Amino acid sequence: MGRRKRRKKVVLRPKKRIPKVFMCPKCGKRTVSIKSQDDTVVVVCGNCGLKYSFQIKEGLDKVDYYGKFVDEYYKEIEGFI
Ligand SMILES: [Zn+2]
Repeated sequence: MGRRKRRKKVVLRPKKRIPKVFMCPKCGKRTVSIKSQDDTVVVVCGNCGLKYSFQIKEGLDKVDYYGKFVDEYYKEIEGFI
């Protein structure tokens, strides 16, 4: 009577993990991927096609390029206002 199934504790999130895909500032989907080609990093959204490329700089992480990507996008839309 009253036997309850005891659920196992949900495994805690792994330590700080960098996601493979990032959120697109334009369409809001998690479809932004970052690829490096030679000395360039290409950040592109697989959904809406928003794309920027940056020169690889030492010490910058993928996340930093994603940050630049978002900055570029906002610079662009601010330019249209
Ligand atoms: Zn997008």
